[in-house]
Amino acid sequence: MDAQAKEKINTYQVAQGRVKRAVEQLDLPDDVYEWLKSPDRLVECALPVEMDNGKVRVFTGYRAQHNNVMGPYKGGIRYHPDVDADETKALSIWMTFKCAVAHVPFGGGKGAIAVNPRELSVKELERLSRQYMQAMAPVLGPEKDIPAPDVNTNAQVMAWMADEYCKIRQFNDFGVITGKPLDVGGCVGRETATARGTFYAVREAARVKNIELDKSCAAIQGYGNVGYFAAHFLNQAGCRIVAVTDSSGGAYNPDGLDPLALKEYKNETGSVKGFPGSDQITTEELYAMDCEIIIPAALENQITPEIASTVKAKIVGEGANGPTTPEGDKVLNERGVLVVPDILANSGGVIVSYFEWVQNNYNYYWPEAQIEEQLQRKMMEAFSQIYDYHCECSDETTMREAAFMYALKRLAEVMKVRGWWG
Ligand code: NAD
Repeated sequence: MDAQAKEKINTYQVAQGRVKRAVEQLDLPDDVYEWLKSPDRLVECALPVEMDNGKVRVFTGYRAQHNNVMGPYKGGIRYHPDVDADETKALSIWMTFKCAVAHVPFGGGKGAIAVNPRELSVKELERLSRQYMQAMAPVLGPEKDIPAPDVNTNAQVMAWMADEYCKIRQFNDFGVITGKPLDVGGCVGRETATARGTFYAVREAARVKNIELDKSCAAIQGYGNVGYFAAHFLNQAGCRIVAVTDSSGGAYNPDGLDPLALKEYKNETGSVKGFPGSDQITTEELYAMDCEIIIPAALENQITPEIASTVKAKIVGEGANGPTTPEGDKVLNERGVLVVPDILANSGGVIVSYFEWVQNNYNYYWPEAQIEEQLQRKMMEAFSQIYDYHCECSDETTMREAAFMYALKRLAEVMKVRGWWG
């Protein structure tokens, strides 16, 4: 999608529009929208970091805390050069609704640093991550706000931040952050959790659409944490991965791409582009692919009406947050595509983050089989709750609208009983 068209879409307004629509559909008073239309708090801070050459560069960091009626704020930290306050606020709104859909006792938050991490050395990245925690520690904590990984951050970044927080607190308090390495209070299965959850949601969507996964093929936009593991789990279920793109290019093979070999190739070369045995492919071509399933696993606002009008797939499983524009959504629905919305399809990450936080609080750790079994159960419950609710609503109600309404009902009830409105 061209940068000019993308610039016109304000992700924060998109997120607010989704909340407004749900408030109207449920015929709730404006007070509820007033509470939920913007975050409780946005912290923006300057992060001065000494570069390896001795010079200081100042980065901008954000933490948006949207709503904590259900529990502490929760949401990942993103490193990306284009990130800004509005994007962070939008992502924090989605987290509140995602946690309500997934039935985990958290509110919504999101963090970000405007940086291209590829331009930094490992030591510079570590100093930046520690600086972020120094600046944000007053508003974070296991009972207040718990970050996690997101785009361009990983377990190592979480370990630096957790360590910095423990130094400030002067004792080990690992529940401040999730997605940590196993030896620092991490949880088995957290790295694969988001994609595993997306896989379960897509598997359920395939079941209701009478699609057999082992006779299907899929295309995936984005080949990072979510994209790669989604490819892996779909492939394990017999689904052929025919096309993948990342920020530098794409790879297409109608006979199927080997997810692990493709990931190793990307690790070596920096992109999936040029993978041996594949043809190059653009994102536009990927979305128009003759396949049953598409997984957007990159960034927001990728599925515009123009892109949506080319989609032939029967299921779009939103691994990414906010990948479909409101207009794109309409077109997908008119074309009969079952869109499993982000706040349901990628909630596996926050579900296992919840398990990690519980284990940190107890200081007792569960075996992998228990994590996998509970993640699967929670994802299947969430899918059937939203799918059934969507079937009970009017014919025009989409799965996304049903998910927002379902979450809003829960949020509004708890807000009311706590005396926030009514
Ligand atoms: P990541 O940094 O590991 O991977 C992102 C991938 O997207 C990279 O391969 C990058 O090259 C690719 N990409 C970026 N711009 C692109 C473009 N224009 N076209 C094609 N590919 C592009 O990030 P991730 O953790 O996998 O997150 C991906 C999405 O999933 C984000 O929307 C994120 O918010 C969401 N998400 C992640 C988690 C998690 O646990 N990591 C949880 C829930 C939701």
